[in-house]
Amino acid sequence: MDRRQRKALSDWISKGRVLFGEPLTRHTTFGIGGRAEVFHEPGDREELVRILKFASQETIPVTIIGSGSNCLVSDTGVPGIVISLAGRLNSFHIEGGSVTAGAGVVLGHMVHRCLQAGLTGVESLVGVPGTIGGALVMNAGAFGGEISTHLVQVRTLTLDGKEQIYRRDSLQFGYRSSSFRPDEVILEAEFHFEAGSPETIADLQQRFLNERKARQPLKQRSAGSVFKNPASDVAAGTLIDKAGLKGTRRGDAEISTKHANFIINYGQASAEDIAFLIKLAARTVKQQFGTQLELEIRTLGFQPGYWEDAGLDG
Ligand SMILES: Cc1cc2nc3c(=O)[nH]c(=O)nc-3n(C[C@H](O)[C@H](O)[C@H](O)COP(=O)(O)OP(=O)(O)OC[C@H]3O[C@@H](n4cnc5c(N)ncnc54)[C@H](O)[C@@H]3O)c2cc1C
Repeated sequence: MDRRQRKALSDWISKGRVLFGEPLTRHTTFGIGGRAEVFHEPGDREELVRILKFASQETIPVTIIGSGSNCLVSDTGVPGIVISLAGRLNSFHIEGGSVTAGAGVVLGHMVHRCLQAGLTGVESLVGVPGTIGGALVMNAGAFGGEISTHLVQVRTLTLDGKEQIYRRDSLQFGYRSSSFRPDEVILEAEFHFEAGSPETIADLQQRFLNERKARQPLKQRSAGSVFKNPASDVAAGTLIDKAGLKGTRRGDAEISTKHANFIINYGQASAEDIAFLIKLAARTVKQQFGTQLELEIRTLGFQPGYWEDAGLDG
């Protein structure tokens, strides 16, 4: 990005933040990653529209993130503008069973507010980090529930600034996947939940949280499950465990001894360390069981073809 473009960005942004060369370690739950050439947190929707239009006119690449809880960022960082919506666009309204949340609202906030309002349907997602926008793109799910189940509609913005509303039936959601296009930014979503007993909802939440604590290495930094489960009755973690890889280390990165589908960062792991373990797990599982694993986490800033030698799409 040249000086004129940098100056234009600095001059415009008044409500949000624009940072040059911001380390993405600060914006991912892995705590890993190089720098964003430009990092932007929009102050409001107008600022977001303006920066997207500018990037489109100037053909500057744009990457949207939420809390970065499902992302591995390369050590070389991300060119262009990384826009983070975590905590931004965070309007939140409940009226009866209808809940409207901005894309930057933390999913846990919605889970908590639904409990307070006696609304049932989203409690299984308690403990899933991230934003509403990220949860919808990933179709976040846990313990049989998915974010898309109670969705009514979503408002999005294309990178050239056009708003669109999608009703639930015009969207497709699958296992950790959705039909949103890579050039769409989720702005806001409306959900509908049924009334339920707050005591029952609270009990369920506690049960789900206890199961998470028992099964997942929550004291270390990670991005949750690295791979999708190959089938509903075959867990990626079980295959990695059976392949004898639990506890395998590279630098400060480790295939968790508690949950083999989690790779953890003990502090100073690089993206290269994590990628080494990801590729090792994918290759070993393929060799031993003939199953090609597929990445659940999103990878940012890696060279095209980087993951191909392990049969993975990055
Ligand atoms: C400890 C731990 C436990 C986890 N457990 C679960 C679990 O049980 N179930 C589960 O499903 N996931 C789980 N995850 C993964 C992660 O929390 C979810 O995928 C979460 O929904 C990602 O939200 P995010 O805001 O962090 O998205 P990010 O990681 O920032 O982004 C994810 C993807 O969404 C895109 N994106 C984000 N926001 C927008 C937006 N507004 N518009 C357009 N695109 C956008 C990004 O470009 C990226 O492709 C876990 C992660 C951790 C660290």
